[in-house]
Amino acid sequence: MPQRVYLDWNATTPLRAEARDAIVAALETCGNPSSVHGEGRKARKILQDARAAVAASLGAAPESVVFTSGATEANVLALVPGLHRTHAQPVERLIVSAIEHASVLSGGRFGREIIEIAPVDRSGVIDLTALDGLLADKPPALVSVMLANNETGVVQPIRDVAQRVRAHGGVLHVDAVAAFGKIDIDISALDVDFLSISAHKIGGPKGVGALLVAGDLRGLRPLITGGGQEKGRRAGTENLPGIAGLGAAAKAAAAGRDHLTGHCDALRRRLEMGLKAILPSTIVFSEGVDRVCNTTLFSAPGLHAETAVIGFDLEGIAVSSGSACSSGKVQPSHVLEAMQAGPELAQGGVRISLGWETTENDIDRALEAWRKVAGSLVKKNDETVLERF
Ligand code: PMP
Repeated sequence: MPQRVYLDWNATTPLRAEARDAIVAALETCGNPSSVHGEGRKARKILQDARAAVAASLGAAPESVVFTSGATEANVLALVPGLHRTHAQPVERLIVSAIEHASVLSGGRFGREIIEIAPVDRSGVIDLTALDGLLADKPPALVSVMLANNETGVVQPIRDVAQRVRAHGGVLHVDAVAAFGKIDIDISALDVDFLSISAHKIGGPKGVGALLVAGDLRGLRPLITGGGQEKGRRAGTENLPGIAGLGAAAKAAAAGRDHLTGHCDALRRRLEMGLKAILPSTIVFSEGVDRVCNTTLFSAPGLHAETAVIGFDLEGIAVSSGSACSSGKVQPSHVLEAMQAGPELAQGGVRISLGWETTENDIDRALEAWRKVAGSLVKKNDETVLERF
């Protein structure tokens, strides 16, 4: 029985050895980080070291880091009316891009019904002119745009977004989950107010993440109230093993980022060339724009994503249809819908995402599986659909 091949790294990654060691060490530490005695100080040191590591990996100050139960909580914590920069007017509107994660599209504490949606173009890049239109001549808004999309891998022009949001006195939140560990991120160079990350996408454990909050931002109201942990921004005794794992994973991800980029770039080129060589009608979405190194979203006329994912799985290959959070629902990806991919291609979107353990042999195994899946699932090639891309 050949070994399975895991190519769904955007859904979650294997645990890094450094993270596992840090988790075990934290589990074996008895103290509560809030206690003043020696045991407490030992636990506090673990917390401080993790905070420093996360901050350093994002060019941020340690006090900007609020540890959370993951990026979902970080996103919802950030999306709250009344935020403002010092001396600026509080934001009462929310604008989000059409391709955000469900936790952003839900609107946090704004309420889904008042959200304004900023469209993307056919390549999945935010439409800056449309964003200008949404920002103009209205009260300042909180804007949420992800740094890289988890389905297509497209890197968004966040500096251009930030410039526009600033010019209108607004506040900017960036979901950096899919970009963290893959591209260089410096929170002050990007000029964003909030940035969300998740540990399990970079080799840390599931169920822990962080929201980074710029120093001059005011009006953040906690989701969880009680004790004064995380400077009153998130009450409750800290998830020390998880946080230690996040810190160690962030450090390892930063150290390995350049290598990962080269490694994944080469493997992805092999993958995408192979996919198209096997089935020439294959469309690789967003191929012509800046993408993180590890993500390929593809489709073909006649392909059904859910059936394709099962087909790959039967061949021992783990891939996904669109985002993992929406798998289980047989619905076209909202990202492909926003890119106006058309129903036939949108229903076939399959995502293959790579990581530091992916090998050339894994790619070749995936291509062998694709040969079978494509042969059995794809109907007739429809040139009218292809012409549009
Ligand atoms: N944002 C993006 C872009 C994601 O891919 C995910 C995870 N699927 C999340 C947010 C939520 O992260 P978590 O699993 O830590 O809640």
